[in-house]
Amino acid sequence: MRFSMRRLFLAAVVAPTIFSAAQARPFPGPDVQQIYQRLLPQIDKIPAFDHHAHPGYFDDPDVDAMAAPPNASEPLRTRDDNPELVAAAKALFGYPYADFSSDHAKWLLDKKTELKKQLAGTAYFNSILDKLNTESSVANRAIMPDYLDPQRFPWVFFADSFLWPFNNESETARNPDQGVFIPLQEKMLHRWMQQENVSKLPATFADYLKFVSQVLEDNSKRGGIAMKFEVAYFRPTTFGDPARAQAEDIYQRYVTGGIPSEKDYRTFQDYIFRYLVVEGGRLHLPVHIHTAVGIGDYFNLSQSNIMNLESVLRDPRYASTTFVMIHGGYPLEREAIWLAAMKNVYLDSSFGELAQYPSAFKDTLKMWLETFPDKITFGTDCFPYNEVLGAEESYWLGAQSSRSALAAALAEMISENEITETRALELAHAYLHDNAVKLYGDQVH
Ligand SMILES: [Zn+2]
Repeated sequence: MRFSMRRLFLAAVVAPTIFSAAQARPFPGPDVQQIYQRLLPQIDKIPAFDHHAHPGYFDDPDVDAMAAPPNASEPLRTRDDNPELVAAAKALFGYPYADFSSDHAKWLLDKKTELKKQLAGTAYFNSILDKLNTESSVANRAIMPDYLDPQRFPWVFFADSFLWPFNNESETARNPDQGVFIPLQEKMLHRWMQQENVSKLPATFADYLKFVSQVLEDNSKRGGIAMKFEVAYFRPTTFGDPARAQAEDIYQRYVTGGIPSEKDYRTFQDYIFRYLVVEGGRLHLPVHIHTAVGIGDYFNLSQSNIMNLESVLRDPRYASTTFVMIHGGYPLEREAIWLAAMKNVYLDSSFGELAQYPSAFKDTLKMWLETFPDKITFGTDCFPYNEVLGAEESYWLGAQSSRSALAAALAEMISENEITETRALELAHAYLHDNAVKLYGDQVH
């Protein structure tokens, strides 16, 4: 160590230019725009793997396991009157107008109807992926529809509902958002019960856990590549670590009825959440967790921010479970990237690129690329807006925003002497495709 430091010192004295060439500088040079223009077409050519999306038609109730509460506040760029969506419709469908007035919107509806007829079955949504140069896109959905090709839309199913098996009267009454969310969790749990031919909750806790595991195993056989939690919407994400006997006692008390106290319900959920995390390791089902702000005016950011999960993520008992932090903790993405120090923790950037404009999202990506570039993945979080503007336009906006922000981040890094152009393209491939695909072995491409 001492020897090499001395050599370094001598070299610096003898040939300072060697070092100044590699020294990062705090501002990009005047070449940054040129580098960006050079990188962007190359980045556009990289086939992407979209690690988080909700593809489907607006009237398809299975696009998500939950729904937006009515009248929820939407941040500016995610509203359906975002003028950028005109550009999306132009690029995807040759939309000839500059607004979505009702007669213009009808043109788009008719166009999509016609295309869906021409491109029957799974061909329509495959054609959307082709236009975006997206090789495959996760379909994070309640269940899969027959109009999505499972080869290109690997399924990520929802695991939250196992946390709400009891009488949910007080959970549902907590606020208007929970009034929408919790009944949908009950519906999801009943679907899993139907799938397993279980007509009522198993009488014993051991059998309940067996049922939970059976659903995971069957979903995996049906093409599920990961399980997803949106638990941050429903309760704080600080998870206690109760003994099995405690959870079992609560199960026995409420399995046939009665309203659990909030404390009892949370204790039961803490146990089930950790059980699912362990099962995710055993069954090679990565665990996706929503970690960001969320829709609904009652979403409690301080009680559900990503750092609350640190004690679970850094727990060596869960080292064989792969975690994907969906939405990268936004707006705490700066703290969040340090969680990726854990070998089994990855960050997905979806929603960040829709909530922020590319100029701001570029800074997020740059900071991540400078910290753990091998642990970050691309996703859009696309979602149908309304009957006219669908997941298609959302896919386009997410992909375009991500690719342009990525090119801009890398152009700055090159211009500031942090990396070479060759390295920049390697990092682009890793973020847009390779890092995520590696998580699933040969299941996805
Ligand atoms: Zn999502």
